[in-house]
Amino acid sequence: MTTDDLLARHRAVLPSWMPLYYAEPIELVSGSGRRVTDARGRSYLDFFGGVLTNMIGYDVPEIREAVERQLRTGIVHSSTLYLIRQQVELAEKIARLSGIPDARVFFTNSGTEANEAALLAATNHRRSHQILAVRNSYHGRSYAAMGVTGNRGWSASALNPLQVAWLHSGERLRGLLARLGEAERVEAAVEDLHEVLATQTAGDVACLIAEPIQGVGGFVHPPDGLFAAWKKVLDSHGILFVCDEVQTGWGRTGEHLWGYQAHGVTPDLLTFAKGIGNGFALAGVVGRADVLESVPGISFSTFGGNPVSTAAGNAVLDYLLDHDLQANAARTGAILADGLRAAVGGLDGVAEVRGKGLMLGVEFVRPGTAEPDPALTDRVFEACRAGGLLTGKGGLYGNVLRMGPPLTLTEDEAREGLAILVDAIRSCVAAEV
Ligand code: PLP
Repeated sequence: MTTDDLLARHRAVLPSWMPLYYAEPIELVSGSGRRVTDARGRSYLDFFGGVLTNMIGYDVPEIREAVERQLRTGIVHSSTLYLIRQQVELAEKIARLSGIPDARVFFTNSGTEANEAALLAATNHRRSHQILAVRNSYHGRSYAAMGVTGNRGWSASALNPLQVAWLHSGERLRGLLARLGEAERVEAAVEDLHEVLATQTAGDVACLIAEPIQGVGGFVHPPDGLFAAWKKVLDSHGILFVCDEVQTGWGRTGEHLWGYQAHGVTPDLLTFAKGIGNGFALAGVVGRADVLESVPGISFSTFGGNPVSTAAGNAVLDYLLDHDLQANAARTGAILADGLRAAVGGLDGVAEVRGKGLMLGVEFVRPGTAEPDPALTDRVFEACRAGGLLTGKGGLYGNVLRMGPPLTLTEDEAREGLAILVDAIRSCVAAEV
C-alpha cells in the first residue's frame, strides 16, 4: 500500500476533525536517535518528537530493552487491581521528584485523563464545581479538559459541564500587556485574579489550572513568579492550584525539572504525560494526599500504569536523570534560541522568538503589521519539512512555529536544525515582502 493509498483510506474512515500535518501527510516508518524516515524513503531531523512526546529519542537501547524484558514475561496488562512492581517504583520516584510533600500518584494513559483525574479530585475535595482556567490554554479533549481549554478551536464551551471563569496570565502577546515589564505583568495578572474571583464566582472555587508554558497556545509563557503571586491569593481562599506539566515537565525548559519551579511555588496537584513514556501511553497526576484521596468511591484503570508503560517510564526517567538531559536542554536550547534571535529575530514578519530550553516558538505576523500570519507560518512549516526538518505549529491564530526536539539533541543537530530553520524563515519572509 502506498502512502497515497493509505491517505485515501485514512480520510475515508477517520474523522475529519483529526487533521494531519503537511500538505503531503507523512507516514513515519522508522526512527533512530533524533531522526525519522517516512514511507517515501525521506529522512528528517525531528524537532517536534510527536508533540514533545519523544523525550529521549528513537530506538534507545535502554528503553527498548526495558520494554522487551516486560513483554517477554507475557504480562502486558494487569489493571490497577493487581500489584505492579514497576508501577510502585515509578510512583515513588515521581512522588519524590514532584516536590509535593507526602504525595500520591495516579497513573493514566493520557494527559487528558490526568487532567480529568486532577479536576475530579479538586472539585470533590472542595465540594465545588467552579474552576479558574487561563485564556489560550489547552488541557485535553475530554468534556472537563475541553471545558478548561481557553481556545475556541479546541474547546467545547457550549457543552461545558463545569463552571469556569477565565484569567489572563500576564502573557506578553500583544496589546497593552506587551508594553509592560515582567513585574507589572505579574501585578496585572494578580489584579485580574482578584477581579475574576469577585465578579465571576460565588467564592467557593475548587481550583485554578494552568500550564507553566502554554503548549498548544504557542509556547506563550507567563512572567516568572506569577504562579507564586497567584498562589498567595488562592491559598487565602483555600483554592487549589493544579499545574499542567504535560508539555513542560521532565526538564524540557532547561531550567528545572518542572516548569512550575520558575515561579518559586509548589502546586497542590501536578499532571504529567507525553515525555515520561517516550511514546508509550503513560501519564498521571501527582499531588497532595489529602486532595487525591478525595476522589469519591473507588476508582480503577484498565490500562493506566500498566506493566509495559511503567517499565518504559522507569527506564525513561532513569535515563533522563543519569544523563542530566535538563542541562542538555539548556545547552542545545540556547544554541537554537540565540541562533534564531540573531539570524531572524529582527526580520519584519517575525514577531517574537520565545520559549525556554527545548521548547521554542517563532511567532509570525504579516510584514509591516502586528496581524497574525498563519499562511506565512504554514509556508515556513512546509519549507522546513522540504529541508528535512519536522517542526510543529500552534498558537491561537495558528501563527507560531513550535520546536520541541528530544532532550538528547546534540549540539551538531541543534546547529543543523537551526540552519534549516533560518533558511526556511528567511526565504519565506523574503517572498512575503
Ligand atoms: N495538557 C497539555 C498542556 C497538553 O499539551 C496536552 C496535549 O497536547 C494535554 C494536556 C492532553 O494530553 P493527551 O493528548 O495525552 O491527552
